[in-house]
Amino acid sequence: MTGQRQVVPVPATVPSPIITNGPRAQRKVALTFDADLTAAMRDRLVARTVSSYADMRIVDELVATSTPATFFFTGLWMETYPEQTRRIGDHRMFELATHSQTHRGFREKCFRLGLVPPDEMHAEVVQPITTLQGLTGRATNYFRFPGGCWTDDALRIVLNAGMTVVHWDVESGDAFCESADVIVDKVVANVRPGSIVLFHLGGPNAPRTADALPRILAALAERDLTPVTLTDLLHP
Ligand SMILES: [Zn+2]
Repeated sequence: MTGQRQVVPVPATVPSPIITNGPRAQRKVALTFDADLTAAMRDRLVARTVSSYADMRIVDELVATSTPATFFFTGLWMETYPEQTRRIGDHRMFELATHSQTHRGFREKCFRLGLVPPDEMHAEVVQPITTLQGLTGRATNYFRFPGGCWTDDALRIVLNAGMTVVHWDVESGDAFCESADVIVDKVVANVRPGSIVLFHLGGPNAPRTADALPRILAALAERDLTPVTLTDLLHP
């Protein structure tokens, strides 16, 4: 016996179950729009300090240009905007996905989103799916963590609920951004084949997204990058 220890090979990196992009070999991209609504945001609507968190100019532009896109709805947004949810769901070129019930964080210190207690996480994930089905008749198993924040335990709960977690590789930077130029530049500088681009569905939390969108669509066309739904991107 030499006493030499057997060298245990380092395991190959486990691929993350969180999807951030599609195949890079095809000139397709997925434009995704998060419909955030927290309890605090809903209070502002009730108090009329904010008039709307649904900038439907974005949807109008996508419809007018026949641009496929994917919407990540929070449960509170759908409950606040049932007509708008149905209107989006009526278009088959739009894919529907969920983004939690109340847009609280799935880990601590996730911006200022607060924290979902672990025993409420499952309900946070499944409740908006039921709402989406009730309003649009459409199902989904795509989920995005609020703020992109998660822990291994939270991820396990979401995956056990049968969800596919989809984040992004290109942040448009539209949240609280007052300049369409900044949003356009950021997307154009970073987008590439297979990208999933993160936007928000407006109101004061994304005041310039609608202004930036036509220019972004033009820039994508110029670069021969075709917007498709998430499913088309991930499962060509
Ligand atoms: Zn969000």
